[in-house]
Amino acid sequence: KPTALVAGNWKMNGLASSQAELEALGNYLRDGDTADCGVLICPPFTLVASFAANAPEGVAIGAQDCHTNKSGAHTGDISAEMLRDAGAAFIIVGHSERRADHGEDSALVCAKAEAVLAEGLTAIVCVGETEAERDAGKTLDIVLGQVAASVPAESTPENTVVAYEPVWAIGTGRTPTVEDVAEVHTAIRGALVERFGEAGNGFRILYGGSVKPSNASELMAADNVNGALVGGASLKAADFNGIIDAY
Ligand code: 13P
Repeated sequence: KPTALVAGNWKMNGLASSQAELEALGNYLRDGDTADCGVLICPPFTLVASFAANAPEGVAIGAQDCHTNKSGAHTGDISAEMLRDAGAAFIIVGHSERRADHGEDSALVCAKAEAVLAEGLTAIVCVGETEAERDAGKTLDIVLGQVAASVPAESTPENTVVAYEPVWAIGTGRTPTVEDVAEVHTAIRGALVERFGEAGNGFRILYGGSVKPSNASELMAADNVNGALVGGASLKAADFNGIIDAY
């Protein structure tokens, strides 16, 4: 069973004063109360370098997106090489907010993941259905299609994490049932094994969407759930620590 990962996606939140939350997380980890899981914070680009320089032991720092290219004439974009240079160890790609807000399709997400792998970093590849897709009974089709098209051929359990985030569960306080989460995660696992052989069993598959301290234990116990990708509840160290406690 893969070692679990609890990852915080801060989205477009966080100013320099947020360093205090990072320190609170570090103090908690130093208390020793933790968890056999990896801990990752993905702040906005502006904080990646300072967070990486000041990260408490046991906390990895990542980013939320990158360009497909290493460098060049792409105003406003940030490359995986630059993020590695800034100290990032992970990069989230294909979050549904980027798929929706920036029209990113799975081919582009795959190219971004390849750029992450090329820098020796770990890609967190996000997939998930919309509410309309779920209501139409298309959840597995959509999710497995995104996994097939967004996860690079070069992926290994070491360099790639898959995150299942139902779009309708993000920031809404609603979550699928534990059975529904297990069904999707087990289907993703099956697709990874079919494609990568035995190695497919080693990939971490995170659940994301309204994870909070009060529901983390039951979600994390579902079959083939190897951690969480946490939005809102990752912005306060006390809440994030509560989720880490679920391990
Ligand atoms: P919430 O935890 O705020 O629902 O966000 C989930 C998410 O999108 C993490 O990437």
